[in-house]
Amino acid sequence: MPHHFSGIELHAASVTLGGKAVLCPLTLALTERRIGILGRNGSGKTTLLRLIAGLIAPAAGTVRVECIDPFTDRKATLSAIGILFQSPDHQILFPTVEEELAFGLIQQGLPRPEVLAKVHRALTVEGKAHWAKAPVTALSQGQRQYLCLMSVLLMRPRTILLDEPLAGLDLPTQARLARRFHALAERLVTITHDPATLAGSDRVIWLEAGQIAADGTPEQVLPAFTAEMARIGARDADADLAG
Ligand code: ADP
Repeated sequence: MPHHFSGIELHAASVTLGGKAVLCPLTLALTERRIGILGRNGSGKTTLLRLIAGLIAPAAGTVRVECIDPFTDRKATLSAIGILFQSPDHQILFPTVEEELAFGLIQQGLPRPEVLAKVHRALTVEGKAHWAKAPVTALSQGQRQYLCLMSVLLMRPRTILLDEPLAGLDLPTQARLARRFHALAERLVTITHDPATLAGSDRVIWLEAGQIAADGTPEQVLPAFTAEMARIGARDADADLAG
């Protein structure tokens, strides 16, 4: 393909897991800087994120990130896309902060002395030089989430995928991380069930049962989503009473 597309492109991409169609064929071109994927539990958000990150292959159709196939070209994908999982404990692999931060850069092929110099520079810039040799277990959950963000940013991906990035953090930590995300130049794709998180997005895509229920500005999509969730909640309450 001779064109140079700087975004994320899905063409009739579908996902089947355990014999179940989890994502229906989706066709999307994502070029905005702040993109939200909104949906209730089980709607397919995490699956879409994993598909874009190349952690799973589409059952049919194609996925391209800056013209790269993220599933087959892992090395190129590491520079194009970073992913921040909901729980830092699913992400952290190494006992110390220094080793954790070094891992991605070593995978990108940088020599170890250069990697360690970069890691120490980054920690110093963040005012966290004293973290280098600290065991990851000595950090709070918010600090571990911050560590994961630092390790993603160190790899300089042009797009970062965020999975419920603020879930489970206390309010001051949420505010601090939200400010940090806001200031990033990178493209952010955030998945969440919480419409409030996406108020400042350029584009919101509402997923329902593996299909796109709505796609537009936050002003268009968020009130409709909130109204539908309230309607479903009220209907379930009625069903409970009837049962
Ligand atoms: P969300 O992130 O919106 O909560 P998911 O993408 O995690 O949704 O899941 C979407 C649907 O796919 C759910 O119905 C879930 O049960 C199903 N699912 C997820 N992973 C698997 C799997 N490995 N095998 C079978 N079904 C799965």
